[in-house]
Amino acid sequence: MPLALVALGSNQGPRVQLLQQARAWLSSRRSLHPQGASRVWLTRPVGGPAKQPQFANQVLLFRAECSPLELLELLQQCEAQLGRKRQQLWGPRTLDADLLLYGQEVIQTPRLLVPHPRMSFRRFVLQPAVEVAPRMIHPVAGMYLQHLLRQLDQSEQVLVLWPGRQIWQALRKAASQSSERLVRLGPWQLKLAGEKDSAPWDPNTWEVFFGEEELASDQLPRARLAAIWSAQEVAAGEVLSVPEEAQAKEVIRQVGPHLVFCSLEPSLLVRELAAALEATGPETMMGILEHTGKDQVH
Ligand code: ADP
Ligand code: MG
Repeated sequence: MPLALVALGSNQGPRVQLLQQARAWLSSRRSLHPQGASRVWLTRPVGGPAKQPQFANQVLLFRAECSPLELLELLQQCEAQLGRKRQQLWGPRTLDADLLLYGQEVIQTPRLLVPHPRMSFRRFVLQPAVEVAPRMIHPVAGMYLQHLLRQLDQSEQVLVLWPGRQIWQALRKAASQSSERLVRLGPWQLKLAGEKDSAPWDPNTWEVFFGEEELASDQLPRARLAAIWSAQEVAAGEVLSVPEEAQAKEVIRQVGPHLVFCSLEPSLLVRELAAALEATGPETMMGILEHTGKDQVH
């Protein structure tokens, strides 16, 4: 029976209680056998509208007797039971339940992408995931989850783009301020590698490398994130994908944490990338929450 890893998030209503209810509901399904649950983390919202409440996040591990699609249906039923209304993208929600991994399966259908396309760089997913399944392998990165997390911890603020020139040009078009070698994305400043300056290190600056040119060189510092544009056809409405290009797979195998777009639509690129950069940061993890009648931080 395959292992299935599920992420829960809530930032509306009695968050911790909602996670407890979701866990109890899922654990009582006949086709799901609970194997573990992470602690509940309090996290800063990433990428959504300004000023939304903080999230409670938890990851659950099950043995699944059902198919991945049946499991997605259970997760959606669970969301519906606990009052979720689909509103704004990345906006407040009573309960979000996502399927992160289902054994070693790679699934790309209009309704379901597995591994979850944003899991490999989001700290609020990886940190709890590593508490329950450190040695589950992310089948696209080919790495243990604990290694993906370690890559976030031990890398420099370095971003690899593949194919570098195309993404860089699209970012330059979309960014409010840009020059040949510098692009600003919200609070972030992306700087092409090789710039000779002695400016002090700035926590908002990311150094950018083009994957096809730099990956083979030993000059490339350990990168925190790879952003990949995969030109394959995907289902209408989907903006993220699993890459098929051999070179893209090689970039992922080397970097680990990755985000794969299947569109270079400028506003989408900016939104996804700025949120991804933010989601790698340790400052998004604010503490451990436990339920003691009301939410309390430790
Ligand atoms: P998000 O979780 O990205 O904030 P939603 O929960 O509203 O957004 O999900 C939007 C859609 O994502 C769902 O209708 C579902 O079909 C699709 N989806 C694709 N892959 C997954 C996955 N691995 N887990 C959960 N939903 C997924
Ligand atoms: Mg979801």
